[in-house]
Amino acid sequence: SVPVSEEKPVVFRSKLPDIEINNSQSLQAYCFGKMGEVAARPCLIDGQTGASYTYAEVESLTRRAASGLRRMGVGKGDVVMNLLRNCPEFAFSFLGAARLGAATTTANPFYTPHEIHRQAEAAGARLIVTEACAVEKVRGFAAERGIPVVTVDGRFEGCVEFAEVIGAEELEADADVHPDDVVALPYSSGTTGLPKGVMLTHRSLITSVAQQVDGENPNLYFSKDDVLLCLLPLFHIYSLNSVLLAGLRAGSAIVIMRKFDLGALVDLVRRHRITIAPFVPPIVVEIAKSPRVTADDLASIRMVMSGAAPMGKDLQDAFMAKIPNAVLGQGYGMTEAGPVLAMCLAFAKEPFQVKSGSCGTVVRNAELKIVDPDTGAALGRNQPGEILIRGEQIMKGYLNDPESTKNTIDKDGWLHTGDIGYVDDDDEIFIVDRLKEIIKYKGFQVPPAELEALLITHPEIKDAAVVSMKDDLAGEIPVAFIVRTEGSELTEDEIKQFVAKEVVFYKKIHKVFFTDFIPKNPSGKILRKDLRARLAAAVH
Ligand code: ATP
Ligand code: MG
Repeated sequence: SVPVSEEKPVVFRSKLPDIEINNSQSLQAYCFGKMGEVAARPCLIDGQTGASYTYAEVESLTRRAASGLRRMGVGKGDVVMNLLRNCPEFAFSFLGAARLGAATTTANPFYTPHEIHRQAEAAGARLIVTEACAVEKVRGFAAERGIPVVTVDGRFEGCVEFAEVIGAEELEADADVHPDDVVALPYSSGTTGLPKGVMLTHRSLITSVAQQVDGENPNLYFSKDDVLLCLLPLFHIYSLNSVLLAGLRAGSAIVIMRKFDLGALVDLVRRHRITIAPFVPPIVVEIAKSPRVTADDLASIRMVMSGAAPMGKDLQDAFMAKIPNAVLGQGYGMTEAGPVLAMCLAFAKEPFQVKSGSCGTVVRNAELKIVDPDTGAALGRNQPGEILIRGEQIMKGYLNDPESTKNTIDKDGWLHTGDIGYVDDDDEIFIVDRLKEIIKYKGFQVPPAELEALLITHPEIKDAAVVSMKDDLAGEIPVAFIVRTEGSELTEDEIKQFVAKEVVFYKKIHKVFFTDFIPKNPSGKILRKDLRARLAAAVH
């Protein structure tokens, strides 16, 4: 019979029904919305000291932080900078500022002074909360501008101790906020250029968290009995949103870990019987390849999330072999998108079957489109194109940059991600690569992420990155930076052949540079621009 032409779906939706989201309240009211049920249950646990705070204690501490911050001059519309590694004070300060109608901008305390000053200045920080490792980087800058500095781990000349800030009485009433007031001002990771200030409002963050953990059948099912590992840095929106805020909303216990170390991770998992482990691909690689970590060590974990950077099917399969009783899946986020665009449906309370290598299905109460990056025409299933997202979770805009905002969110409200991907027959999204990273070999498209995923499946390759190199004949050629496992004598030719056997001719690796490490940022993204700079400078 003649096949009937089917109408192609142009807008992709979740398989879960939309839910009612009350996003006109404040973020803090929303996060503590189930206080009646969870008041006496553990909320935050400091992995380092073992200190544990119940939900009622955390709520009270955020009220005290609010009045302490107010005494130091923070008010509605102001910006506080959290320059912290993970610690409970991060949450007290963030939610305390929210109660005042202020926003928090977050930054990595290991940034250089220049990077920190640039962000503090651009964001208009009125107060900085930091710790010993970063205090010297901000002291002079802050003194010149009359910005108070608060430290969470000790007394420093000219600074105020956090203990003093929360020594205040509780704030009697939260400031009135409008749903479109900014509450978080994270900066994008700076993978493709300078980091950009992203305005996330009470409405956007409530919507994003609700899309993940609310409803009869939550897409990301966290329960009151779950124990979440908060290891990923809270200064990045992935951890702030999908671990801290989502965990609070769900009433789970959240174990806060300051810095990554495989031994310490195993200890915490065993000691606190961690059930949910949000990771990024480099951590997944390290666990998958480490003979030191056994399935026994991780036995309490029922769910492993990965996000922020690509994770191929083979890595996902290798990791699952190590932790067979857990569900492993991915989320897909982008700071500007609030940040979660897609989440693995195997994480739902009533889970769906999913495929390895997929980064999830678009979240509920949102719309996703794939368009031809050249023409803007919407594409159907299985056709790669630029991913667009629309919904109340997306950012209000870039801070003080209407021009870039206009270039990112179009007049119909679609946010353009700059990522290339496709939606398959089961509504699962597969990211191919970033539009900007795709290598053009004689006009053929080569996604470096695909080659990296293949390279790390080699038992003697510990880590790999692929970038483009200018070439007179082909325009661009894919070249690889390779970290070999200890003692390996794997050669350039062997690596080239290993890849050539698996890929079409134009995706072959043309050159290999051996190196000791692949530069990455804390959320696991390969810093390809650093590698390209190394190529340009011809120092490998
Ligand atoms: P900048 O925009 O400053 O250059 P960035 O885009 O890396 O930096 P983020 O907002 O932290 O900053 O990262 C968002 C990007 O991370 C996405 O656009 C996408 O390219 C990538 N990403 C996130 N999750 C995944 C995933 N599961 N698989 C592949 N890539 C992902
Ligand atoms: Mg980006």
